[in-house]
Amino acid sequence: MLRLPGFEVATPRTIDEAATLLARPGARVVAGGTDLLPNLKHRLEQPSLLVSLAAVRELGEVVVDARAGVLRIGAGVTLTAVSEHPLVREHLPSLADAAGRVASPLIRNMGTLGGNVNLDTRCRYVNQTAFWRSAIGGCLKSEGNVCHVVPGGRNCVAAMSSDCVPVLISLEAAAVLRSTAGGRELPLAEYFQADGREHTVRRPDEIMAEIRVPLPTGPRRCAYSKWSVRKSIDFPLVSIALRFDLAADAVDAAITAVRVVVGVLGSRPREVTQLDAVIGQPLSDPKVAEAIAARVHAQCKPLENVPYEAPYRREMLAVHTRRAIARLVAEG
Ligand SMILES: Cc1cc2nc3c(=O)[nH]c(=O)nc-3n(C[C@H](O)[C@H](O)[C@H](O)COP(=O)(O)OP(=O)(O)OC[C@H]3O[C@@H](n4cnc5c(N)ncnc54)[C@H](O)[C@@H]3O)c2cc1C
Ligand code: SF4
Repeated sequence: MLRLPGFEVATPRTIDEAATLLARPGARVVAGGTDLLPNLKHRLEQPSLLVSLAAVRELGEVVVDARAGVLRIGAGVTLTAVSEHPLVREHLPSLADAAGRVASPLIRNMGTLGGNVNLDTRCRYVNQTAFWRSAIGGCLKSEGNVCHVVPGGRNCVAAMSSDCVPVLISLEAAAVLRSTAGGRELPLAEYFQADGREHTVRRPDEIMAEIRVPLPTGPRRCAYSKWSVRKSIDFPLVSIALRFDLAADAVDAAITAVRVVVGVLGSRPREVTQLDAVIGQPLSDPKVAEAIAARVHAQCKPLENVPYEAPYRREMLAVHTRRAIARLVAEG
């Protein structure tokens, strides 16, 4: 049996109290604990204080801010609530879908949106027991000084494996961070960086308070697709979020804008570029799905950081791109 290391736990009731506690050296935020606690059992980190957000009610709201034109979702809202909330389902169906695909019902009842966005990066060489890792001498992200995925590499390329993040970026969401020094808002597209040891720009003393997602201003179709081995409970091995803005509310209407974001490649999600050829084309035109799948395949090269061979995962990305668009077209 794997045991937790020793640590203190504090249960503040407000964001300000939580921020004051988090400013202490060695402190760490915990929300649902479904990612952090297994990592502590694996001794991937050893904080002296866990600042639990479970009693911070301010983090649990989902509200429309009509003036700003955004849906504000508290970082402490559970994934079950995100997937079932009427406002999320009405305005952001691809986010509801992605949240509802995380892990299993029990984990979604505990896991939060803030925890999902800040989920630690994952790698087949690091999400192991300390005993297993000691057999290979650790790696840059644990006790060692080499990378087993990119030998000679100086950065860790562990995978950003959150289901919600690619969708949130495709919807142009922003994160609101709070600390004792004040607050700041930044686009999620700028939140992640290419080092799996420190894959976000969040400072250790900052709490993610909420996610702000712009409300749709015109007709659009969005989809999320993930490939994982077990359908019942598993991290994605590749994932893709698609958003098409349309000239009218029908799948044979012309595409006016497109965003495609891919997850589980390296430590930050990748936005697929050079999609201009599909602008002006009807979403239902089979050439659109082919063109986007070709760009995804050309630009996204998975690494051997999570299970399953990278070339196979690359093929699956193109397959899932086509399937996601076919689903959108079939749904009308
Ligand atoms: C068996 C299993 C299967 C899983 N499958 C999936 C899956 O398919 N897809 C997927 O995306 N995830 C999966 N997960 C990971 C995890 O359950 C989810 O990502 C969940 O949303 C994490 O939320 P949490 O509240 O439990 O986070 P926690 O474990 O509490 O925290 C995760 C990280 O986020 C930080 N954090 C949490 N809240 C905040 C905040 N408000 N501000 C700043 N930092 C914060 C913590 O410090 C920690 O580093 C799985 C986990 C398990 C155990
Ligand atoms: S990508 Fe390399 S450094 Fe990062 S966890 Fe995996 S083996 Fe370690």
